[in-house]
Amino acid sequence: MSGLIFNIQRFAIHDGPGIRTTIFMKGCPLSCWWCHNPEGICPSVELMWTRYKCIHCQSCVDICPNRALSFDEDRLMLDRTRCTFCGKCAQICPTTALKVVGKWVEEEDIFREIEKDMMYFDQSDGGVTFSGGEPLLQTDFLLQVLPKIKSHQIHVAIDTSGYTTKEDLEKILPYVDLFLYDLKMVDRAKHKENTGVENDIIKENLRSLISKKKHVIIRIPVIPGVNDSKSDTDEFIVFLKSLNDDIEVNLLPYHDVSEKYEALWKKTRNAITKDLDEAVLRIKNKLQMNGLKVKIGG
Ligand code: SF4
Ligand code: SF4
Repeated sequence: MSGLIFNIQRFAIHDGPGIRTTIFMKGCPLSCWWCHNPEGICPSVELMWTRYKCIHCQSCVDICPNRALSFDEDRLMLDRTRCTFCGKCAQICPTTALKVVGKWVEEEDIFREIEKDMMYFDQSDGGVTFSGGEPLLQTDFLLQVLPKIKSHQIHVAIDTSGYTTKEDLEKILPYVDLFLYDLKMVDRAKHKENTGVENDIIKENLRSLISKKKHVIIRIPVIPGVNDSKSDTDEFIVFLKSLNDDIEVNLLPYHDVSEKYEALWKKTRNAITKDLDEAVLRIKNKLQMNGLKVKIGG
């Protein structure tokens, strides 16, 4: 069985303890407009076009067998209904402005990458992190890869939205040392409005992991105008305190990645960030005053 990934990042230091190899799995059931890895949302291979790298040579337009590419003034346009994602345009692009995102890999491919850094994992108490996208959208593939990684006593972290079935979560539990668990907001309707899905199962799965004494770090992305108000913070506190007083929380400030959305021919919004630093500090202080362990950043 193959898995679809869109990146393997070696020497990562923000995806769990120590030095890590992070494998980014492609495909996510949520559609958060602030996602900083929008190339991880679609569960299939895609094209990405980086405007500043393009020299407008037209080679991609000319080689496409399906006439899926054209220029609208200086902007390359993609007709998805015609594109078969054959990759010929990306192969011929002289500047790598156009590239294919997403690669099908086997278990051995993943392990070959991991093996390169095992020495660093030992020295730094690091390990391997599966991120995305949503890794648990490819649970069957994870179940092929994880036992081999654990057989080498490598620390495994999963960076998840928590939006998965109880059954799939249960299946991977024996192989996971740490869950980096996203909590975007507590209110159900607001969660649906901003991410496309309700959050009941996310909250249930989180309670289940904590009741099973799994190591969980909660990651709250702080998004201006979405979850940074006083009432949002109060809701986070009530919910987090109901889980466990010792829960660790990381606050992840919003970053504008609208260039990536443009590169994927997708639309996004731009958050107003002028008060973001202040909001992050205010949330941090309030969570700490309520006895929670909080850190800014991953
Ligand atoms: S991937 Fe293939 S079909 Fe799609 S635009 Fe490029 S050359 Fe055309
Ligand atoms: S081949 Fe590359 S550089 Fe040339 S027009 Fe296409 S995207 Fe731009």
